[in-house]
Amino acid sequence: MRWTRSLITTLRDDPQEAEIASHKLMLRAGMLRKVGGGLYSFTPLGLRALRKVEKIVREEMDAAGALEILLPALQPIELWETSGRASQMGASMFRLKDRADRTMVLGPTHEEVVTDYMLHEINSYRQLPVIVYQIQTKFRDEIRPRFGLMRAKEFIMKDAYSFDTSLDAADASYKAMYDAYVRIFRRCGLEAHPVEADTGTIGGNHSHEFMVLAPSGEDGILHCAKCGYSANQERAERRTAGSRYTTKAGSPEEVATPGAHSVDEAAASMGVPSTQIVKSLVYLADGKPVLAIVEGNTEVNECKLRRFLGCSILVPADIETAEKAVGAPFGSIGPVGVKIPVYADIGLKGARDVCVGANKDGFHLRHVSIEDDIKAEWADIATVVEGDSCPHCGEPLSIERGIEVGHVFKLGTKYTEKFKATYLDDKGVPQTLVMGCYGIGVTRTVQAVVEQSHDDDGIIWPASVAPYHVDLLLLDPNSPEVVKAAEELESALEAQGIDVLLDDRAERPGVKFKDADLIGFPFRVVAGAKALAKGCFEVRARGDKESALMPVGDTAAWISARIKEKLAGA
Ligand SMILES: [Zn+2]
Repeated sequence: MRWTRSLITTLRDDPQEAEIASHKLMLRAGMLRKVGGGLYSFTPLGLRALRKVEKIVREEMDAAGALEILLPALQPIELWETSGRASQMGASMFRLKDRADRTMVLGPTHEEVVTDYMLHEINSYRQLPVIVYQIQTKFRDEIRPRFGLMRAKEFIMKDAYSFDTSLDAADASYKAMYDAYVRIFRRCGLEAHPVEADTGTIGGNHSHEFMVLAPSGEDGILHCAKCGYSANQERAERRTAGSRYTTKAGSPEEVATPGAHSVDEAAASMGVPSTQIVKSLVYLADGKPVLAIVEGNTEVNECKLRRFLGCSILVPADIETAEKAVGAPFGSIGPVGVKIPVYADIGLKGARDVCVGANKDGFHLRHVSIEDDIKAEWADIATVVEGDSCPHCGEPLSIERGIEVGHVFKLGTKYTEKFKATYLDDKGVPQTLVMGCYGIGVTRTVQAVVEQSHDDDGIIWPASVAPYHVDLLLLDPNSPEVVKAAEELESALEAQGIDVLLDDRAERPGVKFKDADLIGFPFRVVAGAKALAKGCFEVRARGDKESALMPVGDTAAWISARIKEKLAGA
């Protein structure tokens, strides 16, 4: 491919809208163009990287025995009503009407469609197990789309679904997908760690997220160096001995704490440690107010609270709503005597001498016993943080940031029961299909590669997903000898299956070198009159400081051997 025919345009400066390195670099390197909030076009250059990731995903899915299908992005709402998720998805699901006024959705995922498909397709246990997958566009109406492809409104996913005769049989499908994921991310040059995710009511260790460690990641990952426990902060279980204030010191009494609203202000005003203060927060769970209480030095984890309550939408109540629900000024809200349901974090278990808001402006209550004075349900709702105890072995946990690129989940019969998706067992008795689902964010994976592999000069593509393996740079595009030598090298490399971009622009060498580093081709070969007079090209691997002179006759074989090594080693 000639650069002058390739539609590649790089940008010198960081685009203002981009916050993280990979987003900046993909825009600057001319791989992505923004269309609107959370909407991007892939340029010819960007699409080459995307297609390479897709190819790896397809090869590994096929090798694991999964069958490729293609389901519609546009789906009838009735399927989502059958599963009960029509309301659960809330405003994050795009809905629209067709001309006959039927409600349709733009699929954020495909469990419903694929279960409906299998319900009609599978009759007998002899057809099982089966795993199907697709690589397809998904839609999500993000409140705050950001970080480019990381959180977009439209994105490409690989989603796979397994169907088995039993939960035990489903373990094999789960393992096949888990192992395929390990290979996929390794081949993409990504260091992706499987992390335990929520197992819900299914039990056992049957959900993993694959996380790419990066300081810009939106997820916190807690890790135990001793036993290997690793979990997303959104889900990590808390190990707590309960409250340290277990001795009753009296009955609740009001203390004037003028102007003290924050935990620290209240603690200072009452002369107690902040751990003795209880934080009270009003949330709306599917529109109904609830009060969550946690120790003053911890935070309510909205994901954990939402899962505990089993509600679809959980949002902090605004001031007016909270005041109305509790019947007290916002800054003084506390759990004693309130009419709405109270959920107390398990870290408060045994608390018999703590301080809470008095539901009266300028006052707190002290000597409050959560056990005796409050009607609360216990729940694990506080965020686990660095230094907290490992829920398995008790060692202190460390934390890192990560980007979720994949998720494997043993679903059980959650969907197949609702759709009455059954098969006949070997005795001719109908049984419910057991399902698993497995996702990879394909567009997100492309950007995660960049996030994990770049330097100050630009992207450093692994050979497996680089849009081109070699940037062949013509220093003297007007010299017939230089052009001839370069074209011969290009042909020799392409004959070996190596992707070459020939930079034939009439630009200064400095501009070409900068672009080569910015786009991040694994190899740069310079064809110039000076080196060619010595019978050589200048060859440099991306990331190396110096380039080396290499005899013209050896260059193609040397580079293709290096690239094949990288591809095989990945
Ligand atoms: Zn541990």
